[in-house]
Amino acid sequence: MNGAIALPGPFEIHRIVEFEGPFREPEHLIPSAVGEALQSTRTYADPRYFNQAENKLIMAFHGILVRTPRALILVDACLGNDKHRPFVPEWHMRSGPFIEDMASVGVSVEQIDYVLCTHLHADHVGWNTQLIDGRWVPTFPNATYLFGREECEFWEDDEEANHRSWEDSVQPVFEANQGKIVDSNHEIEPGVSLVPAFGHSPGHIMLKLDDGKTTAYVIGDVIHHPVQVEHPTWSSQFCWDADKASTMRTNILEQVADTDQWLIPAHFPTPTAVRVTSDKDGFWLAEKS
Ligand SMILES: [Zn+2]
Repeated sequence: MNGAIALPGPFEIHRIVEFEGPFREPEHLIPSAVGEALQSTRTYADPRYFNQAENKLIMAFHGILVRTPRALILVDACLGNDKHRPFVPEWHMRSGPFIEDMASVGVSVEQIDYVLCTHLHADHVGWNTQLIDGRWVPTFPNATYLFGREECEFWEDDEEANHRSWEDSVQPVFEANQGKIVDSNHEIEPGVSLVPAFGHSPGHIMLKLDDGKTTAYVIGDVIHHPVQVEHPTWSSQFCWDADKASTMRTNILEQVADTDQWLIPAHFPTPTAVRVTSDKDGFWLAEKS
């Protein structure tokens, strides 16, 4: 559900949800998540994360709105309306209330200062643009859209990739002179910076929020689903480099486990912001917001 993510510190965070519910049979996202290996997980036993009746992972598609001391940032632009994505029914030709949901937490499209796509898969760029009079135009007229250099260089010449979303959700942003290519460690403002997290995609980045006391990472698809907290080596079949993705996932879990650092993934269902603990059985979710 939409709502505030209450973390300590100066950052005001809201989650704007486009879809939440049973989404895919596990093996269709994470090929290792089958049989006894899956059924013995804490994830499988938790009805917030797994629907046993339908044999489906419960997932969300949401944007994360971050109000920093200086700016309003939308991290990941989700699915979007009117996008032609015939291979994924939940994504195809949507007409959802994302903009109205933003307004309900007091944010208009004009107020967004930055849009940050952690990577350029179709489910992270949709609301970059909207269809007005038959043309794709940037949804956020005053925003600078930040794109990671490696990610852009990898996808820009591949028209067929990512459900052709470059054409309807990235190219129009550059044509409107609102796109800015940045290094994967770019600082937006003090305490708000990008961190490279290559693996799920060639130039995947995360957003790090750090006020000197609290640290939170908006991690995109570094971890898709809680089952990968238990099994960090289980990469998704959509990972560009499964080994690199596994290493990145393991590294971030080792870094934040048993600390005050928070993770905010792009597809975790409610509750989305998590802390991580470790014990003899491995990693698990310690506390949620
Ligand atoms: Zn995704």
